[in-house]
Amino acid sequence: MTEDGSIAASENEATSGAPAEEELTVEQVLEKAGVIARKALLYAQGEAKPGVKLLDLAEKIELFITDNGGKPAFPVNLGIGNVAAHYTPSAEETAVLGEKDVLKVDLGVHIEGLIVDCAQTIDLSGENGKLVEASKKALENALSVMRVGANSRDVGAEIQKTIESYGFKPIENLCGHSLQHWELHAGREIPNVAMGNSLLEEGEIYAVEPFASTGSGRVREATDSAEIYSLMGAKNVRMQASRRVLELVAEEYRTLPFAKRWLQEVPMLQFALSDLEKQGLIHGYGVLHDDAKSLVSQAETTVIIEKDGVKVLV
Ligand code: MN
Ligand code: MN
Repeated sequence: MTEDGSIAASENEATSGAPAEEELTVEQVLEKAGVIARKALLYAQGEAKPGVKLLDLAEKIELFITDNGGKPAFPVNLGIGNVAAHYTPSAEETAVLGEKDVLKVDLGVHIEGLIVDCAQTIDLSGENGKLVEASKKALENALSVMRVGANSRDVGAEIQKTIESYGFKPIENLCGHSLQHWELHAGREIPNVAMGNSLLEEGEIYAVEPFASTGSGRVREATDSAEIYSLMGAKNVRMQASRRVLELVAEEYRTLPFAKRWLQEVPMLQFALSDLEKQGLIHGYGVLHDDAKSLVSQAETTVIIEKDGVKVLV
């Protein structure tokens, strides 16, 4: 990104000399990422069939993003049933999609660190239409009240009211979030219930993500080993494998979340990740789930705050 807030078009174009070098604004780059993300959600819908391996599905979606000129802003999350977030298949995962699964596909696309974040719920049995609609409608209603000066609490209230009107619970300890250059969670929140108190400002970028649940409306973090990590800090580390992980992450993902399966080339990978986590240099995200046997739906998009409303990017 240059200092005036514009960003050079793909380096390839510049070096191959084909189209004239083009300067895109931040908003234009985000729009481009949004188009890729929308296509990726559609692609995921077509690929998510019973019997498909979760690992293949995640990898195919990530490859689709890359093939279309973006990069995954985080590992594709495939939350099934009561899993709300932070599940991505491991490199060894053999599980397949079930005939009656309620699947959340949550994906991010970034171009040079400019990020859009979005999600949809796929109801494979067709028996959970109301649950899917609850989070979708909540997202729609949330966007309708967002504009410069709107209070995040009122956006949360809108989400809560909508989901409760369908007879479900909004997940109160998951939030939408502001986004900044290379920062997926940039500090400001859009709650899913009437909580918080901050005024939306012009030009801010937010991911809004209502979750509707048949369970308790609160997620807990599983304690088994994580598949998704992100960088928290950097310093010199003694172990060679740990150094290699830090190098790869700093170069390719920076502070964006990455999957353990993206680093398969590193020998003694699990050892290195545990070492780095102990030193507080990376953070592992446990799977977030509601009560056993409950079902969770999610809808998410990314918007830019404007004077009289929002610009929807995905
Ligand atoms: Mn997301
Ligand atoms: Mn998000």
